[in-house]
Amino acid sequence: MIEARHLTVGYSSRSRNNPVLCDVSLTVPQGAVCAVIGPSGCGKSTLLKVIAGLIHPDQGSVLLDGSPVNPKKRKIGFMPQNYGLLPWKTVRENILLGCRMKGEITAATRREAERLCQCLGLEGLERRYPRELSGGQQQRVALARSFLLRPDVLLMDEPFSALDAITREEMQDVFLTLWKQRGTTTILVTHYVEEALYLGQTIVRMSADPGTVAEVIPNPLAGRTEMRMSQEFFARGRELRERIRAGGCHE
Ligand code: ADP
Ligand code: MG
Repeated sequence: MIEARHLTVGYSSRSRNNPVLCDVSLTVPQGAVCAVIGPSGCGKSTLLKVIAGLIHPDQGSVLLDGSPVNPKKRKIGFMPQNYGLLPWKTVRENILLGCRMKGEITAATRREAERLCQCLGLEGLERRYPRELSGGQQQRVALARSFLLRPDVLLMDEPFSALDAITREEMQDVFLTLWKQRGTTTILVTHYVEEALYLGQTIVRMSADPGTVAEVIPNPLAGRTEMRMSQEFFARGRELRERIRAGGCHE
């Protein structure tokens, strides 16, 4: 379980009176997917970095299963906005990277990496370099790396936003398949209303200046492929879009 409590964060160049995040709290139960949505610049990436333990909050705390977040002790799968692949390493090396940093490469890890490559349609690409892959393929490599690590929590920052609409929808299904197998507690930042509705069992809507949690929306449509083209899905999407707009900024 992830609990962020009363987080207030400012970058040093900004004054203490003008924080990026102000009193942000959220809870993600064990095994759930929480989608965080909000206008550009509202502090979504900052929030994710604080939860990952990469930025220390000025106030507040982050607890993983009741203990303060400690990236050295817990496995945190962090997928940054640009995939975070190392250009000078092959696909296989990139996938193994997270485990290598934890000193956890065994024969079983390599077998699991192969299985993930099959599952993600990356077979035959293992010796290529990231520049030799399409955006969708790079995204799959980043997903394989995150899931290979078997993280306690997975934090994904706009993971599918660089992809075209069709590939993005495919990748959402790939993510759901892996998530259903593993039940990884996940926070997914997105600026796509439909992505939040399809993947997030709860949707945390943020507003900007300063970044705050405007509302926490339970979402019964999450993971329901058969509902994706339904009237209800579109109606909820329209409503959420309007609320984001009314929250003061563009989507
Ligand atoms: P989002 O991911 O929602 O678009 P960010 O968390 O990236 O928002 O940024 C929130 C605010 O913090 C923005 O105003 C941005 O300009 C500012 N910001 C982000 N990173 C830094 C940084 N390293 N130093 C100073 N300000 C930053
Ligand atoms: Mg961002």
